[in-house]
Amino acid sequence: MNDTTNSTTALTHCAVCGSITPAPMLTGPAACPACAVQSLAEAAAANHLAALLRPIVQTWAAHWVEAGLSSSTLSRLLELEGSQWGFTDPLGSLDDKPSC
Ligand SMILES: [Zn+2]
Repeated sequence: MNDTTNSTTALTHCAVCGSITPAPMLTGPAACPACAVQSLAEAAAANHLAALLRPIVQTWAAHWVEAGLSSSTLSRLLELEGSQWGFTDPLGSLDDKPSC
């Protein structure tokens, strides 16, 4: 084998979009820089949402478990509520143009 063949077969591809990654990223599936940034932003958004909702959901769940509903029912209701948040522009008010 020569070095050209080896370097061609050593290329890694982004696990998300399939583009060639410049170098293997830390651990886990390979990701190109754009997909890695997107993945980190999504993880940060999920962690932020969980931190905001945790006390509210715990209070809500404690109330309804005390009222006799099962945790699986509450889990289903919570999932249903989440599935109804189908917005495309959560900052839509920022796109409103001033009337002047
Ligand atoms: Zn990618």
